[in-house]
Amino acid sequence: MCLLFCYIDAVFPRRGNRRPLCKVSAVRYTLVLSHTASRNRRMFKGFTRFLQSPGTHLRTLFGPQDAPGGQTGPRIIPRDQHPVSRQHFSESALKVLYRLHNAGFEAYLVGGCIRDSLLGKMPKDFDVATDATPEQVRELFRNSRIIGRRFRIVHVRFGREVIEVTTFRGTHNDEHGDHIAQQSDQGLLLRDNVWGSIQEDAIRRDFTVNALYYSIADFSIHDFADGMRDIESRTLRLIGDPAVRYREDPVRMLRAVRFAAKLGFHIAPASEKPIAEMAPLLLQIPPARLFDEVLKLFMAGHGVETFRLLRRYGLFAMLFPETDEAMAGQPWAESLIEHALASTDTRIHEERPVTPAFLFAALLWAPVQRRQAALEEEDLPPIPALQLASQQVLARQLQHISIPKRFSMPMRDIWDLQQRLPQRRGKRAQQNREHPRFRAAYDFLLLREASGEIEPGLGEWWTAYQEGDEHEQRRLLEKAGADAGPGGNVRRKRPRKRRRRSSPGPS
Ligand code: ATP
Ligand code: MG
Repeated sequence: MCLLFCYIDAVFPRRGNRRPLCKVSAVRYTLVLSHTASRNRRMFKGFTRFLQSPGTHLRTLFGPQDAPGGQTGPRIIPRDQHPVSRQHFSESALKVLYRLHNAGFEAYLVGGCIRDSLLGKMPKDFDVATDATPEQVRELFRNSRIIGRRFRIVHVRFGREVIEVTTFRGTHNDEHGDHIAQQSDQGLLLRDNVWGSIQEDAIRRDFTVNALYYSIADFSIHDFADGMRDIESRTLRLIGDPAVRYREDPVRMLRAVRFAAKLGFHIAPASEKPIAEMAPLLLQIPPARLFDEVLKLFMAGHGVETFRLLRRYGLFAMLFPETDEAMAGQPWAESLIEHALASTDTRIHEERPVTPAFLFAALLWAPVQRRQAALEEEDLPPIPALQLASQQVLARQLQHISIPKRFSMPMRDIWDLQQRLPQRRGKRAQQNREHPRFRAAYDFLLLREASGEIEPGLGEWWTAYQEGDEHEQRRLLEKAGADAGPGGNVRRKRPRKRRRRSSPGPS
């Protein structure tokens, strides 16, 4: 488990839309989860009762006259009428809340931690909202730093855990200079550092279920946007006019899909409708931010469902355009990606390590294969064709999603090894076996076979080779030599088009 979270620490930044990729950011997963065992036990006791009939509990709070979205002030749900308890929160989060409170500021937990707590899920991290400005927060906590320019927030660090503190965002008006709030001509929010009241803050949040505030003053939950009702009906509903909110920040479309997959919620029709049409707005988002979002989409244990929803709404094509095109002509491609995501999901649930390099290798393999085939048609030999194809696909993909070198290099190794794994003659098998990326490449080969891209057989050979003793390995090598001919070739299920013959030359 430790290994997984150390790994995720390094690669899984928090909310990329607001912060740059930083090591500290993801660290919070580790600690949050190390508290898990005991917190989990305490947490689920209280929830079991609530979840058996959440509707009944919540209905007692709201009369039938309460229409969703039809109110202005918050609904305040006192402590004895909701199941969220301080016992579910990390000590660091509580420390931050109490210190702000004792210094005379308002302090609330908000966002995913309250939403997930209400659903009986373990919060992934803790976000605090306050009326203290970033500078005031900074003064209260020696262990803090202000980050972000577009969205200034404070990270308060406790060992490996980071609590994110945001000042209530206000509504924009013309008095604010560009250095405080800025919007592009298309409505994209470029900067948002206008401070406001909690009400204003609530309506600037994305979904109603993300605008529930837990007050440290009296442990009540403040619901500004009918979020409780949407928790009950398992609905993701954007606050405000969906088209405007997506235009302000197109990443909200990805967040809708991510939460729908993670929570098993449905997206409210009005929030769902504009997505297909507005999906191209994602092309405006900086590639670094999209990299963070893609990790959150595919590396949170719900990758398969997320992938299907992204495809359904036309969002996948905005993230991986060339893969989307290649999938149309290569029926195995979708299956390969689903197999890769299913295996990632399983590993995450089993708390085993996962790497974005493997996932990106699967996500981009179909276009690499397509380009390689085209280059081979032009008489380039397979190895340089693969290398050139890899380069071209990566270059095009980087225009959309920046993949750091520490992931793109192993990804390319995994691809290169696909061409070497069939070669088992002499010392080659052992050399392949000793390659640092062998294991990932072997797993990848199994996926290619499972998806029907290539005939099965080679994967089984490598499985036996890894498990066999010296004698067995020798036998396998002889068999490989006899089966495969020079170098040993992988058998494609659908043979590539025949290579164009160059016209016979004079010699
Ligand atoms: P999780 O942490 O489980 O992924 P979360 O809802 O807490 O889910 P964060 O990215 O941690 O997501 O964001 C915390 C809160 O900040 C959200 O719940 C939401 O209220 C607000 N928020 C985050 N991103 C946006 C956005 N793009 N637009 C509006 N509000 C946002
Ligand atoms: Mg969160």
